Amino acid sequence: MSSLGTMDIFKTLPAAKKTENANCKKCGCAGCMMFAVKLAKNEADIASCPFAPVELVEKLSVSRKVQQETVEIKGSTGVLTVGGEKVMFRHEKTFINPPPLLVELDFEASDFEEKLNRIANFKIENIGEEFTIEGVLLKNSSKNPTGSEKFEEAKAKIEAAGVNFIPQKALEALQNVPDGDFQTTLKSLIEIRHKAIVERNSDFSKPVYLHLADNNVETLCAKASAYICKYASCLVFDTFDEALFTTLYTLRQNIYTDPEMPLQVESKVYEFNNPDENAYVFLTTNFALSYFAVANEISNLHKGSYLVITPSEGMSVLTAWSAQKITAEIASRVVSANSVLHAVKNKKLIIPGLLADLKEELEAALPGWEVIPGTIEAYKIPEFVRRLENPL
Ligand code: SF4
Repeated sequence: MSSLGTMDIFKTLPAAKKTENANCKKCGCAGCMMFAVKLAKNEADIASCPFAPVELVEKLSVSRKVQQETVEIKGSTGVLTVGGEKVMFRHEKTFINPPPLLVELDFEASDFEEKLNRIANFKIENIGEEFTIEGVLLKNSSKNPTGSEKFEEAKAKIEAAGVNFIPQKALEALQNVPDGDFQTTLKSLIEIRHKAIVERNSDFSKPVYLHLADNNVETLCAKASAYICKYASCLVFDTFDEALFTTLYTLRQNIYTDPEMPLQVESKVYEFNNPDENAYVFLTTNFALSYFAVANEISNLHKGSYLVITPSEGMSVLTAWSAQKITAEIASRVVSANSVLHAVKNKKLIIPGLLADLKEELEAALPGWEVIPGTIEAYKIPEFVRRLENPL
């Protein structure tokens, strides 16, 4: 059962049923509707209403059970938070805690140090977020168990490399789903999630982890991608591969962004290639993909440039223009407010091609500036600049 909404609650109370105690205020609220609002927000106690039906009391009790527990996995250099999810689908609400991607290393293997070194050096950046391997476990060894000299030596090497060592014991707080036949495993993950989130069955409230023992990178990538989408809370790999983890982190980042909150960057003026008084000034919105697409192109121009980012609630250029989140007034205010741009002599402001209609209005608002509608697609910026500097 999902959370009870105000109307689900209200329709069971005396005011909705038009019985004699309607709006009696014994609960301390102005009436039944107000009490329903407070109950739905978990700001009132159902016991305050002496006339609440038993079925409502039972439904509320179920709906207030924890769906999925939040578990902290403590490592040597950091804590990983897993679980705590509240919905089945991300169009309902955002998923909360991205599943950590951990690697289990065999410290008795000859390539232990080589793999550890690669893990320690692995770092990628995507849409302003940095990813490293979040934790390394050591494979259980009957010859050199936990606490043995060899085990502790390996653990010390992990820590010396600046990698987060995760004790195997930390995973005991999670429910293990064996990685068997793909269809069966995926079905189990979906069923567990449904029982936890929808049915609020406390037998399934632990976050789940899978240990992927496969060494084939393509198979691993396909399976892990499906498990990240549905519904692993943590994944442990026997293999480390840079391409595999780059792919999975990129996917994970997409799945675990809030669909109601577009990725955005700070609204300010960014500098590229030590801009001076001859720098070009580009402008776009603070939608992260717009920023990174444009920033990538102008940083490769090998010419000093500024990039003015307007506060546009994370909307892309056309959406922001349609919603009046980028206007001549907003754009001119940002340009005028940044003193660094006052030193630019050529006063050429290159705006997205989709905003060509703002040219005259912007030039009126920014005396001395020439506003040049640029390209619609960011990848055409180098060619656009080449033509600007070498007109036919
Ligand atoms: Fe309504 Fe119950 Fe509050 Fe009376 S005590 S106003 S019946 S919710």
